[in-house]
Amino acid sequence: MASVKVAVRVRPFNQRELDLEAKLIIQMQGNRTGILNCKANARDESIRYKEFTFDYSYWSHNKESPNFVSQEQVYNDLGTEVVDCAFQGYNGCVFAYGQTGSGKTFTMMGSPEEQGLIPRVCKSIFDRMVENSMKGTTHRVSVSYLEIYQEKVADLLKGHNSAVRVREHPKKGPYVEGLTTLIVTNYEQILECITRGNANRTTAATNMNDVSSRSHAIFTITFVQAGYCNGIPSETVSKIHLVDLAGSERADATGSTGKRLKEGAHINKSLVTLGSVISSLAELCSEPSGYRRSFFIPYRDSVLTWLLKDSLGGNSKTIMIATISPADCNYAESLSTLRYANRAK
Ligand code: ADP
Ligand code: MG
Repeated sequence: MASVKVAVRVRPFNQRELDLEAKLIIQMQGNRTGILNCKANARDESIRYKEFTFDYSYWSHNKESPNFVSQEQVYNDLGTEVVDCAFQGYNGCVFAYGQTGSGKTFTMMGSPEEQGLIPRVCKSIFDRMVENSMKGTTHRVSVSYLEIYQEKVADLLKGHNSAVRVREHPKKGPYVEGLTTLIVTNYEQILECITRGNANRTTAATNMNDVSSRSHAIFTITFVQAGYCNGIPSETVSKIHLVDLAGSERADATGSTGKRLKEGAHINKSLVTLGSVISSLAELCSEPSGYRRSFFIPYRDSVLTWLLKDSLGGNSKTIMIATISPADCNYAESLSTLRYANRAK
């Protein structure tokens, strides 16, 4: 049965916010996250303060807070769950959603000193495989890394001239034609692929004025476990998609014209569709099984959801991490992120 989990993570103040002497408007207690509107009329509490409940509410800017989490803790809460499910043969997706600069890449990729979810998930997959191979299971792991910009797909492991097309297989469903899929046999090799893909993403970003905030990046790990089940050879294929989404502020095309407007409209379509897909899945999960209606899930409405179809719904595990700034100057974006995350529960 499909399941959806939602976490919110607030980052520390950045230098710009400190220079502006920005006020802290986010509060966290247990799994609740509250946001304060400093400008609103103080007498109207429902406008002044809004509170949401998520599976996890993560604090970053002082280690003494009970809600503070390290990169390791985020992995322990969310990454291990996806890895466990994958070893049981289920697919999984982890998304980071939020405005540019709110901590999506930090959470997904991190830095060499503070590794994020992607390298930690990869590490633990290989560690488990070493353990399982002692029990006679053999494994095959491959990775791909792509970017979706303006509903077009680019292969991040190919480098230049990397445009690829989305096709549909009559049985297997949507796939990317000619996408580089690299076989990896250990953690070091997978790190090389990540580094290569990230470098391609950054090159594009400097040449084209920060494409990374305007595109979705999907890192996919596929692995096959082969062994014997009651003496009969068996193979299980599992897939994990780790997704760093385009900055959510780009979805608001107000006041934009030309290229910017088109870009915003594409991002908006993907993020709105993703939101609808995840909330339909969450709704589906909460229905008592005997009364389950047939839901229409709009996978086809964006390239993002279409490509992830095999890992959203069904028995897949879906995790959304919404990242926000702590500062009053980002109130509107943070509230919009919290509302988006709230719909996904
Ligand atoms: P995004 O990918 O959403 O645009 P980044 O992940 O690049 O944002 O984060 C912006 C900056 O904030 C980076 O310098 C990053 O290291 C820092 N940062 C983000 N989240 C955290 C966090 N939870 N703890 C510490 N630093 C963070
Ligand atoms: Mg980023």
